[in-house]
Amino acid sequence: MKLLIIGCGGVAQVAIKKCCQADDVFTEIMIASRTESKCKAVAEEMKNKTKAHLSTATVNADSVEEVVSLINLFMPAAVLNVALPYQDLTIMEACLQCKVHYIDTANYESENTDDPAWRKAYEKRVKEKGFTAYFDYSYQWDYDKKFKKAGICALLGTGFDPGVTQVFCAYAQKHYFDTIETIDILDCNGGDHGYAFATNFNPEINLREVSANGSYWENGKWIETKPLEIKREYDFKGVGEKDMYLLHHEEIESLAKNIKGVKRIRFFMTFGQSYIQHMNCLQNVGMLSTSPVNFEGREIVPIQFLKALLPDPATLGARTKGKTNIGCIFTGYKDGKKKSLYIYNICDHQECYKEVGSQAISYTTGVPAMIGAMLVATGVWNKAGVYNCEEFDPDPYMDALNKYGLPWAVDENPVLVD
Ligand code: NDP
Repeated sequence: MKLLIIGCGGVAQVAIKKCCQADDVFTEIMIASRTESKCKAVAEEMKNKTKAHLSTATVNADSVEEVVSLINLFMPAAVLNVALPYQDLTIMEACLQCKVHYIDTANYESENTDDPAWRKAYEKRVKEKGFTAYFDYSYQWDYDKKFKKAGICALLGTGFDPGVTQVFCAYAQKHYFDTIETIDILDCNGGDHGYAFATNFNPEINLREVSANGSYWENGKWIETKPLEIKREYDFKGVGEKDMYLLHHEEIESLAKNIKGVKRIRFFMTFGQSYIQHMNCLQNVGMLSTSPVNFEGREIVPIQFLKALLPDPATLGARTKGKTNIGCIFTGYKDGKKKSLYIYNICDHQECYKEVGSQAISYTTGVPAMIGAMLVATGVWNKAGVYNCEEFDPDPYMDALNKYGLPWAVDENPVLVD
């Protein structure tokens, strides 16, 4: 089974190493990214640690033609996109042209939100959808008919959140509930890297997400909030008490479509005071802007310049200590009785570092990326069309989480979030 992996950042490096562990499935892996030296370094590190044959290439995944050429050269069964959400559509288009399966971990977002054509389409979508986030699934769902016709599968968003959280929803629906009424997705990172400010995954994508308006889905419609307007405290197993804030998050959109009868879906993420103070300050001075500014005769995008100054998330592994606790709290009915449930995973930053040299955020994303690719490539999760993670049988995915380093637990008496 040949797999083409595009991107070689923090998440990709974990996905590559986990694919190398599953070398009974992935016999040939090509790692391709903008900076090939990073791909070569990982390939070198994995030499003699896997039976899989590794090769590398340079690709600019903003170009459909370049990705098509690479696919035609390597002839993979599937492409795992662990570059950035900006490349989702070009890579999907290339997969379509070459008739190979497509897998990613984050939904499409435009890099250039000043482009007038994009803005016009965005404003129309805001009116239709009722939330203002720059990312939404419609761009990728629009490929469904074409993927069906081509007989290939696109699996969207197989990271932890999105990804595992939706598999938890499908699992709760299949094994524990007749009707799920509410879902609260909680993403707690109790890790400390010792920096005053750093992001755990790509800073540009992370800061765009956290500084945007929040929103949640209730009784069939979206309710928008100001950025970080809704705050709750929660005592997380393995971590302790943390402040968490309501964010808009992409899996709410697909869960609202696919979990029938659900009345409310919210997403909360924990942040420390230092993170919030730095982010607010950077926003107030314009450093989170995605619009180019002229600086001494050349155009720079402030948030891209900021990314160059911040620590690379792929280098945080050695210094990050503590645990993550990510999961979903459900309420609903089984056999006429009201019940609640928390399905979650606890992951230890230092354990991840010992295993693959990465912190737990890259690990909790890279492992599910590999699992999604494996299930699609082996045909266990494979239907023609474009799908989100809750649309398949959750059981093989849940088994794979236990096997590949993200064991989960079920709490049948969780504290609910008000
Ligand atoms: P990084 O910035 O560390 O890595 C991104 C990689 O993509 C880099 O290797 C970069 O190359 C490469 N890349 C960027 N642009 C291009 C391009 N045009 N052509 C080819 N390669 C390109 O990001 P992360 O690893 O932190 O994040 C990767 C993805 O994972 C993101 O989409 C992020 O949103 C997603 N994610 C999903 C989560 C989930 O739970 N679902 C959680 C966390 C992240 P170069 O080295 O040259 O910069």
